[in-house]
Amino acid sequence: MPVSERVLDVIARTKGFMPVEEGQALHDAVGPALAAVPGGPVIEIGSYCGLSTLWLAAATSVAGASLVTVDHHRGSEEIQPGWEHHDPEVVDARSGRMDSLPFLRRSLEDAGLEDDVVVVVGRSVVVGRLLTSGRAGFAAMVFIDGGHGDDLARLDHEVWAPAVAPGGVLAIHDVHPDPSTGGRPPFERIYRPAVESGDFVEIGAVGTLRLLRRV
Ligand code: SAH
Ligand code: MG
Repeated sequence: MPVSERVLDVIARTKGFMPVEEGQALHDAVGPALAAVPGGPVIEIGSYCGLSTLWLAAATSVAGASLVTVDHHRGSEEIQPGWEHHDPEVVDARSGRMDSLPFLRRSLEDAGLEDDVVVVVGRSVVVGRLLTSGRAGFAAMVFIDGGHGDDLARLDHEVWAPAVAPGGVLAIHDVHPDPSTGGRPPFERIYRPAVESGDFVEIGAVGTLRLLRRV
């Protein structure tokens, strides 16, 4: 099902870090994941202002499946003031700290997708332990695009990879197999261990997005 004009319009003016081809690929992975694991949930780590969330929600909403998006909304290291990807608009004037939550809410509201997305504000590992609480293999799809440091990437893999159900999809962003093109942790701490475990096979790659299916 194509993404509606209304949602594409909001996507075009939403701040974020997801080229259209990758967003489209992420969107297109949801249908097969939900076919394998009907109803979802689909879980996103790293909502920021909602760009990738909109692509995912466009797919989950037509399927009637749940989408949960998790972020502490205080920004990753590389988007803090003084860093290359920092956007001074995404700062709470009162505290001077980053706060992307109002942007996420407006994106979902403008796209008419507010009721289709459960917005969770919190740290990935804390929310992960709470949501999974020992349960494995319940999610249709998990998209990891949160903290890109070594420890956060390792924890995201540890907490979220087991949550993907057989036939479900583990999607990972900012995977750079070639160290000269970008940071290593998503490749070394998430992608590689997932593939090397034998639990996941690669089913798609667009830009720095990798799509793995649990066997
Ligand atoms: N998916 C977004 C970009 C996400 S940027 C897009 O398509 O544009 C990464 C996000 O991860 C930031 O908003 C940051 O606040 C969040 N983040 C980083 N570490 C986190 C952690 N440990 N727990 C929750 N969110 C985290
Ligand atoms: Mg990213």
